[in-house]
Amino acid sequence: MTDNFDDYDAFASAGLRLTVDLGALVENWREMARRSGSARTAAVVKADAYGLGIEDIGETLYSAGARDFFVATADEGATLRLYAPEARIFVLCGIWPGMERIFFENDLVPIIASEEQLTFWMSVLSDYGDYPCALQVDTGFNRLGLPMEDALALADDVSRPASFSPVLVMSHLACGDDPSNAMNRQQLDAFRKVSAAFEGIEASLANSAGIFLGPEYHFDLTRPGIATYGAEAVPGMANPMRPVATAEARIIQTRSVRAGETVSYGRALQLTRDSRLAIVSAGYADGYMRSQSSAGVPLRQVGIAGGQGFIAGHKVPVAGRITMDLTIFDVTDLPDHLVRAGDYIELFGSNIPVDDAARAAGTIGYEMLTSMGLRHERRYISEETEE
Ligand SMILES: *Cc1c(COP(=O)(O)O)cnc(C)c1O
Repeated sequence: MTDNFDDYDAFASAGLRLTVDLGALVENWREMARRSGSARTAAVVKADAYGLGIEDIGETLYSAGARDFFVATADEGATLRLYAPEARIFVLCGIWPGMERIFFENDLVPIIASEEQLTFWMSVLSDYGDYPCALQVDTGFNRLGLPMEDALALADDVSRPASFSPVLVMSHLACGDDPSNAMNRQQLDAFRKVSAAFEGIEASLANSAGIFLGPEYHFDLTRPGIATYGAEAVPGMANPMRPVATAEARIIQTRSVRAGETVSYGRALQLTRDSRLAIVSAGYADGYMRSQSSAGVPLRQVGIAGGQGFIAGHKVPVAGRITMDLTIFDVTDLPDHLVRAGDYIELFGSNIPVDDAARAAGTIGYEMLTSMGLRHERRYISEETEE
């Protein structure tokens, strides 16, 4: 036996692996920038860049020219700062007592979204002096944001300290992914009032879906997230983005099973023909959601089949219940020599759109990406490294 294991290649031998195409990422971000017209285009990289890795994604988008980034937490902002030295980094969850240092040291911009945060922020300014912030105003989403009346009053408040210097006023659309929804126009009208009240301060309303709603929604800065990562921003519209993430899992065993036998927990699937099954090393603990099982998952919306994998040019269905670390695929329709232990099966990527996998699970591409980002061996490719 040798003690030379130098040729160990974590990616080539991983049970579950994720390939992130940075070339496609940059193309998608540029496409969002093109569709944003004269508005500047930020990059939303919260939740570890939608599960794809904030370090590499941040560095790549920064190199591509992004200079405005949105993260959820100050910790994410501190990580991103290493890869985006000159960028403006906005923190969506804002600032709380005790967090002054991480904000100041990493030059992060807090997004103030409530009366409490505003009061705290004014006290920070009186202690430390001038520092930029952003304001989030609620125009009907009823998530984060100052109520409209409070925001308008703040804009008119001549007694507010001169050190209070918001650099951005923003709001978020509730129904941007549904272009025919009247809510979009209502939020647009409300936000126009807000941005007019804060004249001279940059305004931002549109996420990915909002960019597709048209130029009126773009204001000074757009905030695309999901479209940059290649997933659907507007369900039902042909997705013009390139897929960025490909998830693959290794087949660790194949087996032949007779008609009439059952598959996986609960015997939820009974085979109606002699079948060949591939046992694959990904399960719900990896974010491959149990709700994509082919049977035996009563909570999934009726009428939608289970998930599918892709191997050797063919789509193959999930068979029975997905388990913690393993999923079974029915590969009966493929010749044996095309499906062997050790081969990889695509769970989503260029052949199975992440949104199709998500739909099969009763969820959206956002959740699929952020769920599957955790346990993979990850590899980044760009145009240059692509074969
Ligand atoms: C997540 C988020 C975005 C990005 O949304 P996508 O739909 O992924 O483009 C933009 N703005 C805010 C406030 C967000 O929370």
